[in-house]
Amino acid sequence: MSKIILTGDRPTGKLHIGHYVGSLKRRVELQNSGEFDKIYIMIADAQALTDNADCPEKVRQNVIEVALDYLSCGLDPQMSTLFIQSQISELTELSFYYMNLVTVSRLQRNPTVKSEIQMRNFEASIPVGFFTYPISQAADITAFKATTVPVGEDQLPMIEQTKEIVRKFNQVYGDTLTEPEVLLPSNAACLRLPGTDGKAKMSKSLGNCIYLSDTEKDVKQKVMGMFTDPNHIRIEDPGSIEGNTVFTYLDAFCKDEHFGLYLPDYQNLDELKAHYQRGGLGDMKVKKFLNAVLQEELQPIRERRKEFEKDIPYVYEILRKGTEKAREAASKTLADVKEAMKINYFDDAELIKEQAEKYANQ
Ligand code: ATP
Ligand code: MG
Repeated sequence: MSKIILTGDRPTGKLHIGHYVGSLKRRVELQNSGEFDKIYIMIADAQALTDNADCPEKVRQNVIEVALDYLSCGLDPQMSTLFIQSQISELTELSFYYMNLVTVSRLQRNPTVKSEIQMRNFEASIPVGFFTYPISQAADITAFKATTVPVGEDQLPMIEQTKEIVRKFNQVYGDTLTEPEVLLPSNAACLRLPGTDGKAKMSKSLGNCIYLSDTEKDVKQKVMGMFTDPNHIRIEDPGSIEGNTVFTYLDAFCKDEHFGLYLPDYQNLDELKAHYQRGGLGDMKVKKFLNAVLQEELQPIRERRKEFEKDIPYVYEILRKGTEKAREAASKTLADVKEAMKINYFDDAELIKEQAEKYANQ
C-alpha cells in the first residue's frame, strides 16, 4: 500500500512555534526521509471560514502567510503538494455524504470541538459549519487516501472521528476508503506547546504566540516576558519547573550542544533544571539561554522567508499547481465514493439496462 501524508493548517494567522514543533518540523523530516509516496499539505481556508464567516479578508490575507511559512521551514513543492482547500469542491461533496454517517450527539462529544466552542464563546450560537468541521476534516484526509496524518495532540479526536467514518462507510458501501494513522510528536513538550502566557495551548486565536516570522527583537521581547514560576521571586528561592513555560520550551527545543555554545556552566537540561529547583538560578539567565536556542532555530527560517517574499507571484503559482494536482487525486476518490454509494447513474450502464428491461417487460 502507498504511504500518503495529508495534513494542514488553518490560515487564521501566521504559523507559530507550536505549529512548528507540533507538526511542521516533522513534516519536513518526513518529506526529506523519502519514505512517503505522496505528501499533501493543505491550507484549510474553508475550515478557517467556519468560525470566521464574517472575516473572509483575514482568511484571504493569511493564505499567503501560511504558504510562506511552509516554504521557509523547508517544505519543498517538488516533493510535497501544497494546495488550497476551498478550490477543491470534491472535498465539500465528500463531506456532504459523510454527514449522513455521523450523529449530532457524536459530534457534541468531540472534546476538541467542545473546548474550541468554549474558547470562542460559541455556546449559544455555534455555526453549523464549525460544528461539523470534524466531518470536513475526514473528507480532507480520505480524499487523498492518506495513511499518515502528522498533527499536534489536539487533533487526536478528529482522526478518531475520521476512522469511524471510514469504518462506517466501508461497512455500509463496501471497502472504499483508507483508515489513517495519526503521527504525534515523540517529544511530550511538543504535543501541545503552551502559550507564552502559560495558557494550555499556543494558539493564533489566543494571541500568545511566538511566530516563525517574528523578528529577532520580537522573539527576545516575548521570551523575556514569558510566564515562569510565579512563586520564584528571589534568585535564591527554589523554583518549580512544572507548568513553567520557559522550561517547557527548553524541553521542546534545547539540545545538549546548546549548553556548550550558550551556557557552558551546565552540561545538559537536567543540570539546569536541578539548579533551578534547588534555588540560586534566576529566570533571566534561563530566559536568555532560551532566547539563544530559539534564535538559532528561527534564524534560517526567517532568512528563507525573506527570499520567498521577494517573489509572491511564484508562491501563488506553487499553490495553483499544487491545487490542480490535489484536485485530480480528490476527484478519483469522489468517483470511487459515488460508485460505492451507487450514485453514479450516468456511468452505470448496468442500471440503465436494468431499468430499460424492467419497463420493456411491463
Ligand atoms: P486556530 O486558533 O485558528 O485553531 P491553531 O493555532 O490552533 O489555530 P491550527 O491551524 O488549528 O492552529 O493547527 C494546525 C496544526 O498545528 C495542527 O496539527 C495542530 O495540532 C498543530 N498545533 C497547533 N497549535 C499547537 C500547539 N500549541 N502545540 C502543538 N501543536 C499545535
Ligand atoms: Mg486549531
